[in-house]
Amino acid sequence: MPELARAHFFGTGLAASVPNNVMAFVKSDASSNIPDVQLLFRVAPMNAAPYLAPFRQAYPDGFGCRPTPLRPETRGAVRLASTDPSQSPRIQIDFLATDRDLRMVRTGIRMAREIFNQPAVRACTAAEIAPGPDKTSDADLDAYARATATTVYHPLGTCKMGVGTDETAVVDPQLRVRGVDRLRVVDASVMPDLVGGNINAPVIMIAEKAADLILGKAPLAPVTAA
Ligand SMILES: Cc1cc2nc3c(=O)[nH]c(=O)nc-3n(C[C@H](O)[C@H](O)[C@H](O)COP(=O)(O)OP(=O)(O)OC[C@H]3O[C@@H](n4cnc5c(N)ncnc54)[C@H](O)[C@@H]3O)c2cc1C
Repeated sequence: MPELARAHFFGTGLAASVPNNVMAFVKSDASSNIPDVQLLFRVAPMNAAPYLAPFRQAYPDGFGCRPTPLRPETRGAVRLASTDPSQSPRIQIDFLATDRDLRMVRTGIRMAREIFNQPAVRACTAAEIAPGPDKTSDADLDAYARATATTVYHPLGTCKMGVGTDETAVVDPQLRVRGVDRLRVVDASVMPDLVGGNINAPVIMIAEKAADLILGKAPLAPVTAA
């Protein structure tokens, strides 16, 4: 209640924050030592789309959650379409190509459902819109995931960093393109794999590190957790 009053009168505090900021890092497999699924909550139903009254009706009130595998096994690919550099490349996304990735999303849907079925949340809801309360089997949830999966905009690894004889590595640990002089790549494409979360901050860290490498600065002393 104090938070609601604070939001109403001052426009600050927890209740003034758009709930899109809420997310959770959870384990789809209890035996795992780190989270493997990110739950991204949103303040609109999953099927919400831009509307323009009276031509296109507003979507109904609602909220949702998008379970996202953090370290998917699935690998997409970016290939050249032609030797002409002005031609767009061929991008193959390949979502949910492995059983493990699909299981993580399925478990994430069940976890989101469990959260939304807690009494505190049930007090604010009328009914589940999607996938629908009768959709409970693995096959039902897999079909829903396949029909509705989309990106959360963290593409990376198309130009990965690697060492030694790794023939799939494009840049070395100094971010230099192997076999090309005076050329470095400094962006998300050099990450060898997903970091297990949103990638904007890691991209900034890569850029800071690249600046130090280019300036020839000595590495900072390692920091160990207390
Ligand atoms: C809609 C959306 C929401 C996101 N939300 C989040 C979030 O909440 N949290 C988070 O951590 N991350 C988020 N991300 C991801 C994150 O912002 C990006 O993954 C990250 O910025 C990628 O950084 P980058 O340097 O690899 O690429 P970019 O930031 O895309 O930088 C590439 C740069 O290269 C330039 N460029 C392209 N082609 C050429 C060329 N031929 N010559 C010269 N320059 C060129 C582009 O203009 C651009 O400035 C989001 C991404 C999107 C799209």
